[in-house]
Amino acid sequence: MTQPLGSFPGGLKLRGHKKRSTQTPIRRTPLAKQLILPLQQHIGAAAVPIVEVGDKVLKGQRIARAEGHVSVCLHAPSSGTVVAIDEQAIPHPSGLSAACITIETDGEDKWAERHPVKGFQDMTPHEIRQIIRDAGIVGLGGAGFPSFIKLNPGIHHTVESLILNGAECEPYITCDDMLMRERADGILDGVEIMLHALNAQEVLLAIEDNKSQAISSMELALAARPHLTQTKIAVIPTRYPTGGEKQIIQVVTGKEVPTNGLPIDIGIVCHNMGTAYAVGRAINHGEPLISRIVTVTGTDVTHAGNFETLFGTPISALLEFAETKRQPDEPFILGGPMMGFNLSGDNLPVTKTANCILVGVEDAAEKAEPLPCIRCGDCASACPASLLPQQLYWHARAKDFDQTRDYNLFDCIECGCCDYVCPSKIPLVSYFRFAKTEIMNQERERKKSDLARERFETRQARMEREQREKEERQRQRKAALAASKAKKEQDAAAETSSAEDKEN
Ligand code: SF4
Ligand code: SF4
Repeated sequence: MTQPLGSFPGGLKLRGHKKRSTQTPIRRTPLAKQLILPLQQHIGAAAVPIVEVGDKVLKGQRIARAEGHVSVCLHAPSSGTVVAIDEQAIPHPSGLSAACITIETDGEDKWAERHPVKGFQDMTPHEIRQIIRDAGIVGLGGAGFPSFIKLNPGIHHTVESLILNGAECEPYITCDDMLMRERADGILDGVEIMLHALNAQEVLLAIEDNKSQAISSMELALAARPHLTQTKIAVIPTRYPTGGEKQIIQVVTGKEVPTNGLPIDIGIVCHNMGTAYAVGRAINHGEPLISRIVTVTGTDVTHAGNFETLFGTPISALLEFAETKRQPDEPFILGGPMMGFNLSGDNLPVTKTANCILVGVEDAAEKAEPLPCIRCGDCASACPASLLPQQLYWHARAKDFDQTRDYNLFDCIECGCCDYVCPSKIPLVSYFRFAKTEIMNQERERKKSDLARERFETRQARMEREQREKEERQRQRKAALAASKAKKEQDAAAETSSAEDKEN
């Protein structure tokens, strides 16, 4: 076991509300009649369907391929028939629809042929990454970034530390805690594979000190693998938002990821515990990512707990299984109370990034109209990224996006600490999200217009070159004609003079 070497600024001590959902073992959500699978459940390009309406599919069968570098495949979570490939409502704060594949399940839950790897130690890191990509594995901590990319440090980097993030710091969420308690061995399977792929010098299993059962369980599993000499458990203080990637790195190693930098720049790679478990299942059992553990909890949930749920399962089915006092259109939170977002329709599918469904929050702040900023500075004191939320707010509000960039807007992890402490109840994070979206849209538009200008200029240059070539060809033709005409005249003159000579 190791001691934390650092700390991060700001942060909050929050009530955990974790007991409610950790009283029963992980349960399996019953198979739903229909599974709705968005083609984009990850950061990057949406997967491209490789099935058609009417196709029969087996559990674990690939139904969409990765498109481009930053993308992963998608698989059928159960056997059945593809009944639609169209736009469906997805769990997104904007109420967006997106392309989905819908499968009507046949109740048999019949697996496609699986190809477990015997002896991953004999595989190259590239081969391992390929399987992980094909298995559709993304970061299960909530971000959804394709995991195979984070398992590729590149030839210029050495991985000093692989950190397994078990700091489930947001209140109410307990899916990683329960996974560590019940499936520690499966997590270590994935850790060994990640270690092999990254050739890391050490592995740190970072777990908060309020998760004593998870710590014991991971310790026991680790003790049974004495060959993992470079793997240690790092017990870290419980403070929100320790689970943020930059924050956990700072706490565990004392090192700071530079602004606009990546953890690998300082020799660190960070993965979630659930992701490690999924990697173990993919390599050792040949199972793609088709389900995840979802915490269903809150004051209005009768049987709160953690549920292993197939992707595409309607949230309504999950809520029905856990039993809630919720009315059909009553909003619920997807994610935790700090970083999650409100949704109202429950005919939305569970996706790869859905870690928690929260129905009824115990100490929910009363809805209040925001008051003017009193420049108290509390938001800056609470910010774990050492930002100046008040300044960011002014500039975001004034749509002065260059200034928000100058104040490192993109270092904001949207943890909500500033919102939480603001006495004026200003929805600061909403302003920051708005500013980020606007900047990204502008960036997209700029890239689009740069591309259009580049195309136009290339086309112009090509047309000018073709014109020049045409003119040159015409000039050469004319010169050839003139030369041939001159030659003919010369020959004719020569013939005439020779005829005259003969006559004389
Ligand atoms: S906490 Fe709220 S009121 Fe205080 S400075 Fe920040 S934005 Fe202004
Ligand atoms: S939401 Fe952003 S600005 Fe606010 S405290 Fe968190 S990191 Fe800082």
